[in-house]
Amino acid sequence: MERKTPAKKTISEFLNSTVSPVDIEQIIEYLRSKNLKTNKVTVYRIIEHFYKEGIVTRLELGEGKFRYELNRNHHHHLICQKCGKIEDFKDVTIQELEKKIFKQRGFLVKYHSLEFFGICKNCQG
Ligand SMILES: [Zn+2]
Ligand SMILES: [Zn+2]
Repeated sequence: MERKTPAKKTISEFLNSTVSPVDIEQIIEYLRSKNLKTNKVTVYRIIEHFYKEGIVTRLELGEGKFRYELNRNHHHHLICQKCGKIEDFKDVTIQELEKKIFKQRGFLVKYHSLEFFGICKNCQG
């Protein structure tokens, strides 16, 4: 059995409290705010472990780094190119599209990756 380290526990707490996917830097920042000394390597190791266990999902938004979030319900993201805000977005149409692909092409979709880039409501005015 693996020991639940304070860092591991605190990262779980952080991921539970965030509404948008976070990067390694944000995780380290949070750990530091909780007075937990840590380093990039340790955080990477923990988060990769979470990823392999299916606890978190990771996404790549063309930033040259991964972002992580808890693997809750399947959803997509709306990414603002002005302020960088990332919002969750859920829509059943995409599941229907997968069914349509199977019907029309006999292709069984296992998963997809779909992110929307644009300008959020706040940044439009
Ligand atoms: Zn914005
Ligand atoms: Zn999300």
